[in-house]
Amino acid sequence: MAARCTDGGLHVGSSEFQSHLRALRQIDFELAYLVLLTREGLKPLSRWEKPLDEGVLGLLQQMHLATRQMRRTVKTGQEVIETVFSRTLACIRLYEQSFAGTPIDKSPATQRIEGFLFGYPPCCVEQYVRKPYAPNDLADRDREILFHWACPRCKVTPVLLDAYRSIHDLLSRC
Ligand SMILES: [Zn+2]
Repeated sequence: MAARCTDGGLHVGSSEFQSHLRALRQIDFELAYLVLLTREGLKPLSRWEKPLDEGVLGLLQQMHLATRQMRRTVKTGQEVIETVFSRTLACIRLYEQSFAGTPIDKSPATQRIEGFLFGYPPCCVEQYVRKPYAPNDLADRDREILFHWACPRCKVTPVLLDAYRSIHDLLSRC
């Protein structure tokens, strides 16, 4: 199973890693899920749309993830802090160059860069840019574990779904 692979000398199935994962899951299941998807390489980078405290950032770093907090602004001008994490500094830098200090927007360019960094299939990103939420035939239980909206008759999402499902199941058990 993918979640048993090794990287950087740290075994994903090691008791240390599992205890970090359980600690994250207690804070928020979705945060732990994003962390594991990112650690497994299914997502080059993930964004948590809130600040995280030093303790949580430390946990992510012990799981061999680079982290960065960034200031953005919303429409009202109010400032928000986002946290991004990735196995590689290169992805953090791409996100930082593209979005640090900028207003949050949903332009096609933004969606394409985000889609690339978040590991979304390009076909789904292009469909979403043209017409968001075009009907697809995914079951609700599949939609719930994805972070992108699958394009109609997508050829990539079913492959991704198997990998996402095994990570989601592993997290539910650990
Ligand atoms: Zn697609």
